[in-house]
Amino acid sequence: MPYLTAPEALDTLLPDQPRYRIDQFREWLYRHPVLTTDEMTNLPLRVRQSLADRLWPMQVEVEQSGDGGRTVKWLFRAPDGVAVEAVLMGYPRRTTLCISSQAGCAMGCTFCATGQFGFDRHLAAGEIVAQVAYANAHLRARPMPGSPARVGNVVFMGMGEPLANYDNVREGIRRMIEVMGMSARSITVSTVGITPGIDRLAAEPWPVTLALSLHAADDHLREQLVPIDRRYPVEDLIAAARRFRGSHGRRVTLEWTLMEGVNDSAEQARSLAAIAVELGAHVNVIPLNPTPLAPQRRPSAERTRRFVEEVARYGATCTLRDTRGTEIDAACGQLRARSDARSPERATPVPAPPGRHP
Ligand code: SAH
Ligand code: SF4
Repeated sequence: MPYLTAPEALDTLLPDQPRYRIDQFREWLYRHPVLTTDEMTNLPLRVRQSLADRLWPMQVEVEQSGDGGRTVKWLFRAPDGVAVEAVLMGYPRRTTLCISSQAGCAMGCTFCATGQFGFDRHLAAGEIVAQVAYANAHLRARPMPGSPARVGNVVFMGMGEPLANYDNVREGIRRMIEVMGMSARSITVSTVGITPGIDRLAAEPWPVTLALSLHAADDHLREQLVPIDRRYPVEDLIAAARRFRGSHGRRVTLEWTLMEGVNDSAEQARSLAAIAVELGAHVNVIPLNPTPLAPQRRPSAERTRRFVEEVARYGATCTLRDTRGTEIDAACGQLRARSDARSPERATPVPAPPGRHP
């Protein structure tokens, strides 16, 4: 399994090959990924054939595209049966890939489809980086109209909590930067707020971007949405984000999934703005993608606009995330929710929604 082997140890897969062949193979895997080993034209036919059906650690079970071909979503299935999602989004000057760090998630946020399904397992570093390689291979074969044919930005905003799978996420990021050649700043780790993980990430040599999923400015509200808030309260998160930013100019974004009548008040907007200004952080408002089991609703466009304006009025920079991919269930966990609904034998038992509901 080439991606499940460290890029520095590929000789163990091809023990009879000279060093330059191993280097060529590593280039194909990380620098110029291709969908099949057939396309690795400078490798001997025997080598290509021996690796043909084990190039990718997970198989594409569903591929959907939307937004006129500028959004592509994959559901990948691993041999042990777990499934994860990745979403590719093409913009005029950048191509962004949203990847998963775990199959499922143990955090149980009440508004999140992944959280409602519970935790299956951690992804290996190779399964994490293979999502990026696969997207690059796909773009090489089928570029998106008007967007760069290479993934320029990676966001850990698919399934799972990246800082709960720290070592594998770290190794995945290392390979993206050191082997694929991506810039650290173009990689965003989105976290529900595991403060020891934020401190570990701050101590790494790469200035990756941190996105903190805040969603509420006080613990009373936040613990109803994000159960782990009881362990890592808002004050601790802010302190950890401040430390993260303090270490050579790393960037922090505050994520705010907007829910009608829950966290869209003027008062929450003002408290959020105060936190953002103090941290020098950018605010990203994400209108809720309703999920079948969540009680929360998406606010109207008018209410959403008012919330964003209120945050900006108090001096914070604030953007509204576009609702890219809604037509293909591109929100975290939703494609799997559908696929499992179609094949109930594979569905994971749905736990009782954790936490109290607003
Ligand atoms: N576990 C990490 C990263 C994956 S979730 C985290 O929570 O940050 C990525 C982002 O999607 C988070 O900000 C999360 O709050 C948001 N999200 C989850 N479910 C959503 C939904 N139904 N609608 C809109 N955003 C959602
Ligand atoms: Fe897990 Fe993030 Fe979903 Fe919360 S929002 S359940 S941390 S994936």
